[in-house]
Amino acid sequence: MRVPKIDKEKCIGCGTCPLLCPNVFRMTDENKAEVTNEAGDSEENIQAAIDSCPTAAIFWEEKA
Ligand code: SF4
Repeated sequence: MRVPKIDKEKCIGCGTCPLLCPNVFRMTDENKAEVTNEAGDSEENIQAAIDSCPTAAIFWEEKA
């Protein structure tokens, strides 16, 4: 399966990904997105968040 990851260096804290997938992403105290539940939403919805990220900070990673 593949799971979403976030490159915190690229994240500008826009808040879009937790808005689209609140069960997968949340904002930290440093205003960076983090993954709280890799399987918290459908791949389709996670892909929508990936596509909506203005800095392409979210990416898929293969997980055995
Ligand atoms: Fe950060 Fe991208 Fe999520 Fe915006 S959509 S909070 S830039 S990871």
